[in-house]
Amino acid sequence: MSVSRAYAVVVSSIVFLSSLYALADESPEQRLAAAIRYETISYQGPARIDYGQFQKFNRFLERSFPRVFDTLLVEAVNEHSLLMTWQGTDSSLPPVLFTAHSDVVPIEPGTEPDWPHPPFAGVISQENIYGRGTLDDKQGLMGWLEAAEGLLAEHFSPRRTLVFAFGHDEEVGGREGAREMAELMAGRGMQFAWMIDEGGLIVADNPLVADRPVALVNIAEKAYVTLTLTATGEGGHSSSPPAISTIGRLAAALARIEANPFPARLSEPVVAMLEAVAPYTQQPERFIFSNLWLTGPLVASQMSGERLTSAFVRSTTALTMFNAGVKENVVPQRAEAKINFRLLPGDTVESLIERIEGIVDDPEVTIESGNWDGLPGIANKDGEGFVVIAKAVAAVYPQALVVPSLLTATTDTRHYIELARDQYRFHGVLVDSAQTPSIHGTGEYISVASYLRSIDIAREILLGAAAGDAPVAVQ
Ligand SMILES: [Zn+2]
Repeated sequence: MSVSRAYAVVVSSIVFLSSLYALADESPEQRLAAAIRYETISYQGPARIDYGQFQKFNRFLERSFPRVFDTLLVEAVNEHSLLMTWQGTDSSLPPVLFTAHSDVVPIEPGTEPDWPHPPFAGVISQENIYGRGTLDDKQGLMGWLEAAEGLLAEHFSPRRTLVFAFGHDEEVGGREGAREMAELMAGRGMQFAWMIDEGGLIVADNPLVADRPVALVNIAEKAYVTLTLTATGEGGHSSSPPAISTIGRLAAALARIEANPFPARLSEPVVAMLEAVAPYTQQPERFIFSNLWLTGPLVASQMSGERLTSAFVRSTTALTMFNAGVKENVVPQRAEAKINFRLLPGDTVESLIERIEGIVDDPEVTIESGNWDGLPGIANKDGEGFVVIAKAVAAVYPQALVVPSLLTATTDTRHYIELARDQYRFHGVLVDSAQTPSIHGTGEYISVASYLRSIDIAREILLGAAAGDAPVAVQ
């Protein structure tokens, strides 16, 4: 190599290094943008998952939050999930659990060009951070760590023990991550005063309350249950078919199920939400929501008529799979279908099966519930955790209305049922309602301002939880 060539290499290395330095993730928004660039995608088939991305992501966390990784006890569970314990000074107090997840859903093939910026480029543009995971749920995971790192920089130490559990497979059921971490903690005899998972957000433009943002703190979530229905019977050559084929029998059963939806009703968390917003709505909603003892059935039927609100007032029925037959001239001996239900609080797997058996009413059709996780209960809307969250929101968005609500989707929370009686779902992100379809959809983004404030809220929540003496609201 000639001298001048060597010189050129040295100079270009310096240029390269300094550009790396300039690109160093110096601010929370830059760190979130960097987090988005790790393609930690969960696929239904584990063979497709690139676990290298999860390893790199976790190393990135270690570099980004050195105080957290130095001070907290950090355990990798099932290699890729992270359990972090911030030991409190008063071990007589029950700890508080904070959960989030590092995995994201895939991009639907063909929709990439519809994104304003590529989904894994981590672009900050026009005061927004774009990419898959900016709302679900890397902002949650990064937000807790930003808040903890900031507190550690101020030499803060919690009175009560705080635990972070970051799963790596929430989007495909959480059985490798959250469930393993929950089992590990259960084995250690841990019991939490309360916990917070993802779910609730602060909605800037709630149609019911025009003049202020509404923070929805989910005190319950719908239960996820899939039933498998199987019809078995005579098969054979299609030239001499049976009077009723397995396909016909099963199809008729499914049609009956779809024709008999669950009745619309107001569950406890939805009643709590409507009553909490009532004083801030206009007439006639103010009267209607303040007198649900009278107007409840009307409100339920009204809400069930709108696709946006229907899931809040009904256990839903979705026929999702149907399999039968291998050849066009063979009548199959077996037909199988799967129905995915999302149950409102109050409905149970037992009551569901009983209901479906009654509707199907055919001994030739069997109904199996397969694997299902426990049903989360309803957290206390006046409990300490709720008070801590409400105070944290008020500190950052003084004009916001904080109300209990119901999450119509599912989270990792259900794996922690045995560990925390009061389970809340809330990450303090302010969104417009137009943004919510981008979660699992196209064009997911968070505004920089919303993200920075969500870190402020996370900080307030950590401080409130760490104190362990938040006053409980008097009913
Ligand atoms: Zn999520």
